[in-house]
Amino acid sequence: MDIQYFDSHAHYDDEIFNQDLEDVLENAYKLGVTKIIDVGYNEETSKHAINIATNYTYIYATVGTHPKYCNNYTNVDFVYELAKNNKEVVAIGEIGLDYHWEHDKDFQKKYFMKQIDIANTLDLPIVIHNREADMDILHILKNEIKPKVDCIFHCFSSSLEVAKEVIKHGWYISLSGTVTFKNARNLHEIAQYVPIDKLLLETDCPYLSPEPFRGKRNDSSKVMYVADKISNLKNVSIEEIANATYSNACRAYKIKEDK
Ligand SMILES: [Zn+2]
Ligand SMILES: [Zn+2]
Repeated sequence: MDIQYFDSHAHYDDEIFNQDLEDVLENAYKLGVTKIIDVGYNEETSKHAINIATNYTYIYATVGTHPKYCNNYTNVDFVYELAKNNKEVVAIGEIGLDYHWEHDKDFQKKYFMKQIDIANTLDLPIVIHNREADMDILHILKNEIKPKVDCIFHCFSSSLEVAKEVIKHGWYISLSGTVTFKNARNLHEIAQYVPIDKLLLETDCPYLSPEPFRGKRNDSSKVMYVADKISNLKNVSIEEIANATYSNACRAYKIKEDK
């Protein structure tokens, strides 16, 4: 096969895919996107991710409670149960902290830590959602995470200094379509900085379509535009970016590399 890509973060539970999900996934596969992680963010979407992963051998699931859903009523017992009992589940996530919107920071921290504990117990990597919460995320991870548990910072949007800190700990940085935006100079710098063996690619579809599809529905086939932009920024071939990020994602998620 030609170049193969790994889309390490997608949300196919979104109703925007209701009409043509099968076609979208088939098309992406034909174009070389031969591995996809479907990411849960609450109980319903975590179950949905497991369903998709059950139906498609090249799709894997994560289960978790996004900070947006951390409140008085939250119960993360399902995360442990689903992760423990379904072999399609390759990570806990997306979990983390989101201080962009008005949410109770204490609940966010509490359930972030509870879910880190589940990852520690089950020895699964963690998909981190971090928005405007750099210091608290790093602080909590440093204190709570077991050394052998890996972290993937999805849709990285923090500063170069934070990127350096993430890399220093041996964690992974995943870049999305936002790196293709002309004015995303900070992300361009980060793409150039991140060692090629610590980089992952994602679409975060249906959101964050890369240029030239900005504002339209995103899907996994467009992960190659992210790869292309990074290959330009790093001045290496797109094959090299695709291969490295494919291997990195397999390593991070402990998926067999069956190319
Ligand atoms: Zn996220
Ligand atoms: Zn997401």
